Amino acid sequence: MANSQKPTDLGTSNHQSAKGQLFVVATPIGNLEDITQRALSVLSSVDIIAAEDTRHTNKLLSHFSIKAKVIAVHDHNEKQKASELLDWLDQGLNVALVSDAGTPLISDPGYAVVNLCREKGAKVSPIPGACAAIAAVSCSGLATDRFQFIGFTPAKSKARQEFFIDAYNSGMTSIMYESTHRIMASLDDLKLALGDEQKVVLAKELTKSFETFFSGTVVELIDFLTEDTARQKGEIVLMLPGKQADKNAIPPEAIKLIQLLQAEMPLKKACGIAADYLDLKKNALYKAMLELE
Ligand code: SAM
Repeated sequence: MANSQKPTDLGTSNHQSAKGQLFVVATPIGNLEDITQRALSVLSSVDIIAAEDTRHTNKLLSHFSIKAKVIAVHDHNEKQKASELLDWLDQGLNVALVSDAGTPLISDPGYAVVNLCREKGAKVSPIPGACAAIAAVSCSGLATDRFQFIGFTPAKSKARQEFFIDAYNSGMTSIMYESTHRIMASLDDLKLALGDEQKVVLAKELTKSFETFFSGTVVELIDFLTEDTARQKGEIVLMLPGKQADKNAIPPEAIKLIQLLQAEMPLKKACGIAADYLDLKKNALYKAMLELE
């Protein structure tokens, strides 16, 4: 069988080929006990470790008493380092690629390296482990039969609102990364884009002492984070359920429009205008809005 390995075989020996191998090694996202036995074996045995931040990785290695040659491969030098790394593999050296936390390439550097290695036929193997997106969705209570990971939310408000609408319209659970300094602005945009009642799940500080999951409407989440601003700090994964194929459901853009119109007119009239504008049934819209209220 091509490319098969026994469970105990780390795949670091080069008996069959003179060429080396690239290992894409996941590291913990907070709790160091989440490092796998296989990650430790690979990190101890490779010739070179290519790390996003050498100081960060050296701390991890020294915690596990691993001595290794560590070089920096990050967003700013990755393209140039990729061909250097390929040369080492050609010379028979084994290389491990790690990022600061979690799985490399998942909103982390490594794409240029892995892409080039694959293009040139080098052997690339994952050493799987922690990934914040997967850890978060697995405990979110949201549907996991179909989901999408869509990286960090955009920095600009308008782009962010469109991003949330697209995520929702995908019809599947969406997982995104969010930074602590942007979380409140992002939630304001989420509220504007999808309405006050939009369900959302936040997973924070996974695997660490202050690990938190919050599940509720976007307004409830904003209240929760505003009550105690310390709750806004830390590493955050945000998740949204996708739009359900429910014929009676009101599209979020209709709710948003009706909410805006309601400031100037009665609900029935607002529903009439929204129904005309969005080509929806006025009575169904009015009934659904009354239920929502
Ligand atoms: N490669 C990493 C992975 O596999 O999850 C992600 C790296 S990305 C640069 C960092 C972002 O991941 C953080 O801003 C946060 O959104 C998310 N993240 C990382 N660790 C986390 C944790 N312990 N709890 C919650 N989110 C985390």
